[in-house]
Amino acid sequence: MSARILAVEVVNSMWYDHLGKRSEDRLDRTDWLDAFLSYWSFPVSPDGKQIERLKALRTLLREMLDRTTAGETVTEAQLTQLNAYMAGSLRTPDLVSNDNGYALTYRPVALDWAAFLAEAALSFADLLADQRINRVKICRNSVCKWVFYDDTKNGRRQWCSSDTCGNVARVRRHRDKH
Ligand SMILES: [Zn+2]
Repeated sequence: MSARILAVEVVNSMWYDHLGKRSEDRLDRTDWLDAFLSYWSFPVSPDGKQIERLKALRTLLREMLDRTTAGETVTEAQLTQLNAYMAGSLRTPDLVSNDNGYALTYRPVALDWAAFLAEAALSFADLLADQRINRVKICRNSVCKWVFYDDTKNGRRQWCSSDTCGNVARVRRHRDKH
């Protein structure tokens, strides 16, 4: 399993099932949001207005992904908006030891909401800047909309999951043939 990517998880917080029947905005669920923020080590409890800011960032990220997954570049206006979110970022170096020796990381100085939004925006900017954005895909099942990072060797993964969406497509192909 590939490492979790904050920006991708923010986009997927608007959840759709693979049949086009159900959807759920998980940012409206306190239990989900608590677990999410705790995983990303942000001990914050956002109010409604702050959650709206995150939803606006989510919309921006989704719109940029609509472009990048279609092989287009993001617009200057989108970059300006993304930069505005990152402007809240202030990071400090943190040298840690690990199994391979040492790693130099940068962590946010403040653990407030602006910093969280900045971290989410920054994680998307990272994908764009080092070309990994080409590996970020939207499930080919158009009603599913799940975003995933394709870490397969050939980079040809098309479905969020072969059990659900991949299987729906297989069944449909099978049916069309008969
Ligand atoms: Zn899917």
